[in-house]
Amino acid sequence: MIPYGRQSLDDEDIEAVVDTLRSDFLTQGPKTEAFENAVSGYCGATHAIAVNSATSALHIACLSLEVGQGDVVWTSPVSFVASANCARYCGARVDFVDIEMGSGNICLRALEAKLLAAEQAGKLPKVLVVVHFAGQPCAMEKIHAFSLRYGFHIVEDAAHAVGAYYQGRPTGSCQYSDITVFSFHPVKVITSAEGGMALTNSDKLAARMRLLASHGVTRDPALMQGEPEGEWAYHQITLGFNYRISDVHAALGISQMRKLDNFVARRNELAQRYDRAFDGTGVRPLQVASDSRSSYHLYTVLLPESVDRQECFRVLRAEGVGVHVHYIPVYKQPYYRALGFDAAYCPNAEHFYRRLLTLPLFPSMQAKEIDMVIDKVVQALSYDPAAVQRSKEDC
Ligand SMILES: *Cc1c(COP(=O)(O)O)cnc(C)c1O
Repeated sequence: MIPYGRQSLDDEDIEAVVDTLRSDFLTQGPKTEAFENAVSGYCGATHAIAVNSATSALHIACLSLEVGQGDVVWTSPVSFVASANCARYCGARVDFVDIEMGSGNICLRALEAKLLAAEQAGKLPKVLVVVHFAGQPCAMEKIHAFSLRYGFHIVEDAAHAVGAYYQGRPTGSCQYSDITVFSFHPVKVITSAEGGMALTNSDKLAARMRLLASHGVTRDPALMQGEPEGEWAYHQITLGFNYRISDVHAALGISQMRKLDNFVARRNELAQRYDRAFDGTGVRPLQVASDSRSSYHLYTVLLPESVDRQECFRVLRAEGVGVHVHYIPVYKQPYYRALGFDAAYCPNAEHFYRRLLTLPLFPSMQAKEIDMVIDKVVQALSYDPAAVQRSKEDC
């Protein structure tokens, strides 16, 4: 089975990990800081805080923005559940803004309409978590303008968008957001096995997130209460977590960062091969805006309305093509249904979900594998179960 995504590791990556295993520091050593510097340097952000997952990064991002009970956090329904769960960890309510069909990203018209209504009702969100679906950056400049007009914070869930560019700047620059979060899970663009990062240009948010990621404990005398008891002193000044990444993971992350641009270039090249082949077949690739470079974490397409996605999925899996569906809209999850969300809460997300299919894409895929997938998809499209049934009845 060709998987929908997989990591690309080479001997250099493996040596980087082994070297760290032989060094003095398995965690809280120089590799973590070097990983942070590599990512903040690439993105052009002032601060980067490496943690053990994007989920942890989203949690401390929300906490640092003082999300709590009585607050509302908005996000996109076409995402992994972590984009919404971070608000729930803080005791806040979650609400979903519908998407636009072309990209799967948050719909600016839906956002504006919802903001207007929320303003009238006095229920504006504290934070908007935008999701750069499949690696295509959202229209951040406009979203940022809304945040100034309506007074909410922006967290970019860029789990898919490491290596993406928007208006000539890397995603993670935080030009139009308070905090950007990356994931380094093996299916994502680069990997540290497990790992995540929170980037920000705010000294205050960075300090808070660092504290929250390590037990709420500080060794900085300036932050301690009263005189330190001695050189051994550390003070716990808030309730934090152990969300630290290890130096072993960070070493892999550093090594992978060196390959990021090559990976993204290769993903773009392969995605274009798919795009060209699907032209005229009724299969609709996601649109990438002209002011952006997608990192193509996922190659997701919308199938023609007439195609039975269930059947197409089954046929392709049976043929060894590891197709997937990203995502079941978050509000459909039993946990969110129990919070009162209707099973068809966002009409566009519903429509998108019914038609979407993720095809295999990863840097080590060969052009001939892409062509094989294309052939099988085109064949699966013409597979018409009604026609098969009719032909059976004819016999
Ligand atoms: C993968 C993913 C996450 C969670 O990343 P982890 O590093 O596995 O915690 C969050 N948001 C989105 C959109 C993701 O795809």
